[in-house]
Amino acid sequence: MSDPFFTPVSGFDLPRFAGVPTFMRLPYVPPGHERFGDVQIGLVGAPWDSGTTNRPGPRHGPRQLRDASTMIRAEHPVSHVRPFEIARCADVGDVGPNPASIPDSLDRMSAFYTGLREAGIRPLTAGGDHLCSLPILRGIADQPLGMIHFDSHTDLFHSYFGGEMYTHGTPFRRAIEEGLLDPTKVVQIGIRGTMYDREDRDFADSVGVRIITIEEFFDRGVADVMAEARQIVGTHPIYVSYDIDFVDPTFAPGTGTPEVGGPNSFQALEVCRHLGGLDIRGADLVEVSPPFDASGGTAFLGVSVMFELLCAMVAPAS
Ligand code: MN
Ligand code: MN
Repeated sequence: MSDPFFTPVSGFDLPRFAGVPTFMRLPYVPPGHERFGDVQIGLVGAPWDSGTTNRPGPRHGPRQLRDASTMIRAEHPVSHVRPFEIARCADVGDVGPNPASIPDSLDRMSAFYTGLREAGIRPLTAGGDHLCSLPILRGIADQPLGMIHFDSHTDLFHSYFGGEMYTHGTPFRRAIEEGLLDPTKVVQIGIRGTMYDREDRDFADSVGVRIITIEEFFDRGVADVMAEARQIVGTHPIYVSYDIDFVDPTFAPGTGTPEVGGPNSFQALEVCRHLGGLDIRGADLVEVSPPFDASGGTAFLGVSVMFELLCAMVAPAS
């Protein structure tokens, strides 16, 4: 039975442009709130982009995504899943980063996510740049996780700028080195764009990460690619990371490192519809940059992806 406290405000009851925006109009239940211990899936804002190497702005993502998410309704249009009736979901607030210090921000964020794990809350995070995924994994990975990763980029580089180890191009290299991810159960989908070199690809090959380029994605189609992704992760606990630059910049221009020749907005949702039944321990949607999102459309696509991820997270693991 659904708990009225955890029921989102309906657009039938209060116009979508009214009220204080929380993710998907859920109750705001930050750590310390009397109902915090009852939350099962926590929607988290990670307003931090100090890992950005090109155009910045994802630090403004959570606010924009909260605003756009007032459009999200209660029921999935295809599966008819009603996620807010299956799991107690809440906006658990923002992690508080330190924009002047990458190491301190990583520590603050991993501590926040450790607190969620200890409370039995699975996080669905709105970034933030992709470096946010590293402290999330540090907080939630109680064993090496598998991962299904949608992105134009592998984010597997060793370092930037002569040895900087922590940027949004390196999080999954660090996560594999730290034992947070099992590389043989990691699949990256949508990889494309001009390359610096093959250093990231060579690393992936050396540890067993499966890269599905956009050429292979379009040759085989969504269903076939996602069937392979499911086969790679199997019943292992996984993380799902979704960089909005996976989507073609025609549909998602509001991001820092766009790459042309990508999936359309329907395909952006469709891939998520193949995640149900996996043992998803957490998920994120990162790299939405409101300063480059003049129409607000990227944020709306972003929250639509978040709703798809949420519906996958509430499906029973099989
Ligand atoms: Mn990325
Ligand atoms: Mn990317």
